[in-house]
Amino acid sequence: MNGMNIGILVIGNELTSGMTQDTNSSFAARELTAQGWRVSAVMAVGDDISAIKGGLDYLLGISDALVVTGGLGPTADDITTASVAGAFGLGLYTDDTVLRRLKERFVGFNIPWTENNAKQALFPGGAVVIDNPAGTACGFCLERGGRPVTVIPGVPAEARRMLLEGVIPLFRERLGSREQVLRRTIKIFRLTESQIDQELTREDLAIPGVTIGFYPRFPQIRLVITSRGEDAARVEENLKIVEQRITDRLVDYIFGYDDDTMEGVVASLLTDRGLTLAVAESCTGGLITDRLTDVPGSSAFLERGVVVYSNASKVDLLGVPASVIEEHGAVSEETAVLMAEGVRRLGGTDMGLATTGIAGPAGGTEAKPVGTVFVALSSGGGTVCRRYQFRWDRRRIKEMSAQIALDMLRRALSGGDMLT
Ligand code: AMP
Ligand code: MG
Repeated sequence: MNGMNIGILVIGNELTSGMTQDTNSSFAARELTAQGWRVSAVMAVGDDISAIKGGLDYLLGISDALVVTGGLGPTADDITTASVAGAFGLGLYTDDTVLRRLKERFVGFNIPWTENNAKQALFPGGAVVIDNPAGTACGFCLERGGRPVTVIPGVPAEARRMLLEGVIPLFRERLGSREQVLRRTIKIFRLTESQIDQELTREDLAIPGVTIGFYPRFPQIRLVITSRGEDAARVEENLKIVEQRITDRLVDYIFGYDDDTMEGVVASLLTDRGLTLAVAESCTGGLITDRLTDVPGSSAFLERGVVVYSNASKVDLLGVPASVIEEHGAVSEETAVLMAEGVRRLGGTDMGLATTGIAGPAGGTEAKPVGTVFVALSSGGGTVCRRYQFRWDRRRIKEMSAQIALDMLRRALSGGDMLT
């Protein structure tokens, strides 16, 4: 069963014309691989009956199961159900339960029912319906010579949930898997891949049934530990052992686990301690405040976030003396410190966080090249400022600066180490 090969077919004219980027196949491939299965091929075709048939034939020739996404909508261009039925010589039937639920949904949302929606209750003969917990179009599963062919909608949020909650459990059941799979994601910032890799090539992490995957997502890195086996208790214990060993080694660089975000972790730390924050952003242009306000309940700690882009605004809104900017520059430790202190004073908050830097591509000098960024954090215990030198493009410099500012705050709040 671990030798199982799965083919992925994504359908939609928007994919083959490049109007929409195909994210379903990479998500599916990751999840299927994490289950210990192999992806035999990934294929994209348009909403075209012969292309869909060709794709199914090809993939079934090299796979033990298929995942198909897209083309299940009510409009005329979505023809996946009819094409799959046609490819396998099957007729279509209306599932009355699905049709009734569809109509109820329309009433519930107060949307007028139009007859083309009945199409979403049509399934190929012999298909088993796969529920859609996130939308209207249900998916289905067919058996072809003992090989399951699952078809789910293309809308990424729906496809994801249906893959995790419908397709994968179905594959596991069909294939008689007694294997348990547990996963834990460790989120890391401020270490390079090679630094992490070095830490991970230790013998004590080589435990049978446990694999460690590396998933960089700028500006952070995710490590995914997967533990599998037939003995549930053993699988869980192995996962814990590896997680603990990695945590012991990388603790200073781990900001969270699983669904944690940097801003969410900072928000919890501030809220738990009843501390308030004011932010003054120059080169990050509001990114820090944007991320913090993504966290529900951020009003409990965030007093203000000001974007002070010009020299004049740093003077007017933060009380930074014009003479300091003139003497040291807007991108300087002196200015950053006064920005953090100024916004903290004016906001009347426990903490003040400030960024100022040169995002480029112009504006760099020999002493302060593009990518020079100062981040300052002010609190009752004093003010610290760090200088960073980043490379990359403008957007990445902004994202990295916002991330490092949040991380500075996180470190100060969790370890009490204001000087990090
Ligand atoms: P459909 O199920 O074909 O009605 O798709 C609905 C919408 O989901 C499309 O308009 C696309 O915006 C999106 N979509 C479909 N397939 C994919 C895919 N493979 N990756 C990302 N988005 C997709
Ligand atoms: Mg479509």
